[in-house]
Amino acid sequence: MDLPGVTSFRAARHRDDLALRPGERYVAGGTWLFSQPQPGVTGLVDLTPLGWMPWETVPGRLRIAATCTVAEALAAPWGAATAVARQCAESLLMSFKIQGLATVGGNLCLALPAGAMTSLTASLGGEVVVWTPDGGERREPVTSFVRGPGETSLAPGEVLRAVDVRLPAAPPVFRRTSLAPLGRSSAVVIGAGDRITLTASTARPVVIDAADPDAGLAAVDCWYDDPHGPPDWRAAVTARLAREVAAELGRAA
Ligand SMILES: Cc1cc2nc3c(=O)[nH]c(=O)nc-3n(C[C@H](O)[C@H](O)[C@H](O)COP(=O)(O)OP(=O)(O)OC[C@H]3O[C@@H](n4cnc5c(N)ncnc54)[C@H](O)[C@@H]3O)c2cc1C
Repeated sequence: MDLPGVTSFRAARHRDDLALRPGERYVAGGTWLFSQPQPGVTGLVDLTPLGWMPWETVPGRLRIAATCTVAEALAAPWGAATAVARQCAESLLMSFKIQGLATVGGNLCLALPAGAMTSLTASLGGEVVVWTPDGGERREPVTSFVRGPGETSLAPGEVLRAVDVRLPAAPPVFRRTSLAPLGRSSAVVIGAGDRITLTASTARPVVIDAADPDAGLAAVDCWYDDPHGPPDWRAAVTARLAREVAAELGRAA
């Protein structure tokens, strides 16, 4: 949709260009930003001209740039996590055209419970790299960066630079459910190693111990409530999926 309040658009080519002026907001793929009115936003700062490599590898780790699109991320060398990366991308239920624009960083920064790039990176022990306005950098687990629907730990003027994930030794186990076959995710449960990560059914990512999923499930205090499922149903279906995932991880061990 048009954003009639926006009167300026700047391309960020260097880090210095990231200093926000009053009323400015960062834009990456713009697939959410242009999908609804943005009251108070008068200018946009485009992150994509920064020219970050979509992904880079270091031994045992994969760095996904914030501006990496979902489509580009699918081409990254995920190793044993290749299938789960695809399953998460497909959970976004967007066409290939949107996948070619929507970025991994935009998905994390939006912090929607059904943010499948959050599901993927949180389940792989992801750590965000955040550029701070003073020229510094800070790191934080994805599981604490995403605090709740639409809420992250980003302070004004901070930019998500990348997310680093650990490549698992064995393929993670993925389960997902939604109210309709082509509906938005109501619960996404991913087991990797000794951890099970719950998203979509919870307001923020929750990690529980795969050795004792019932104890972890009993402690969850943030079952999500929206048109894609009431909290009691989400808790019940997530428990079933988490037990399945734990059993499958146990059989593979
Ligand atoms: C058909 C369709 C289906 C969708 N399905 C889903 C879904 O199932 N789940 C879901 O979570 N979303 C969904 N979305 C919403 C959205 O497309 C995705 O979340 C997408 O990944 C957002 O990325 P983007 O690059 O387009 O973000 P943008 O729209 O460009 O930005 C989103 C927000 O993040 C901020 N931002 C972006 N990048 C950075 C950065 N590097 N540092 C700091 N702030 C930043 C922006 O300022 C803005 O506030 C869907 C959208 C469409 C059109």
